[in-house]
Amino acid sequence: MTISNIWVVVEPVNGSLSTTSLELLSHARTIAASVSAITWGDNAAALAAQAGEYGASTLYDIGSLNGALPGVPVAQAIAALVANGAPDAILIPTSYDGRDIAGRLSAKLDRPVLTNVTNVLDEGGLVTEHPVFGGTQIVKAKFTGEGPGIVVVRAKSFAPEASGGASAAVVSAPAGDTGAAGAATITSTHVEERTGPKLEEAAVVVSGGRGLGEAANYALVEEAAKLLNGAPGASRAIVDAGWVPYSYQVGQTGKTVKPTVYIACGISGATQHMVGMKGSKNIVAINKDPEAPIFQIADFGIVGDVHKVLPALIEALKSR
Ligand SMILES: Cc1cc2nc3c(=O)[nH]c(=O)nc-3n(C[C@H](O)[C@H](O)[C@H](O)COP(=O)(O)OP(=O)(O)OC[C@H]3O[C@@H](n4cnc5c(N)ncnc54)[C@H](O)[C@@H]3O)c2cc1C
Repeated sequence: MTISNIWVVVEPVNGSLSTTSLELLSHARTIAASVSAITWGDNAAALAAQAGEYGASTLYDIGSLNGALPGVPVAQAIAALVANGAPDAILIPTSYDGRDIAGRLSAKLDRPVLTNVTNVLDEGGLVTEHPVFGGTQIVKAKFTGEGPGIVVVRAKSFAPEASGGASAAVVSAPAGDTGAAGAATITSTHVEERTGPKLEEAAVVVSGGRGLGEAANYALVEEAAKLLNGAPGASRAIVDAGWVPYSYQVGQTGKTVKPTVYIACGISGATQHMVGMKGSKNIVAINKDPEAPIFQIADFGIVGDVHKVLPALIEALKSR
């Protein structure tokens, strides 16, 4: 191993670490001799066991943010830690807060950020992989110059695998006074109500596209997803049309999913959509156009009218 030390920003979510954080820790320990985690919150120290289980030997605890958005205090705390000894790289999950932290940290450290990263390799130094042109090509990049590289990694780039490691040693790393920049506080949070499994974690995803014809027909997708104990997803076309919320979008500018079964209903298969679902184990496509690009990656294709095929599928599932 030529990489001696990686820090991973791990995000607390409802008393646990986010799945993407665990993915990053799992991978970091395979390429670096030492992995540390950085987190925050009122009860961050309680996450040391989980951070250790996934590969961190140290957990830097920034502590309570007192209602502030994480970007400012977390970037400030990390910059202070770097001043006392920098790692080779800092891995950050691609999330709203992760991106905010990365941008602010880049400005503070005067170091560049590599984003949209889907793999981090040890090739005699840290090398990152980035899908470009809608995922049809992969480019490699590496940092030059002195100082830690800031790497923003996409969800589902790695599998979250516990190593069975001991609890991480907790080291307090407060942000200190953040001044006017830290004055913005969160006044309320809203959890989007959604029944069934989360889109990113569901074993089955049924997604609808413009081929559904109109918003009301999305109910067919939701019903099929429910019967399969899966999650409904969408192409950007119907998100832009306002049929479903953005949180349903699969693809380059939406979510990346890797379910066991992905059923694309009336979706053409634009590269920007496929980059978010082509890692699915089994892809089923329903499209009336036999030339639709989605069939190029489908394991099972149905050339037909989604308004006929989906109701038939729903009937078959109900009669099981
Ligand atoms: C920078 C950028 C980022 C983007 N990010 C994303 C992203 O994250 N996710 C995403 O999805 N897209 C994204 N897009 C948009 C993408 O390029 C496509 O425009 C979009 O995916 C198309 O959605 P669609 O397949 O639902 O619609 P269309 O391309 O219009 O396809 C509709 C399909 O339905 C079929 N169809 C029509 N009627 C029926 C019927 N009755 N039965 C069966 N099939 C039928 C048609 O044959 C067609 O193949 C992005 C674009 C850009 C430029």
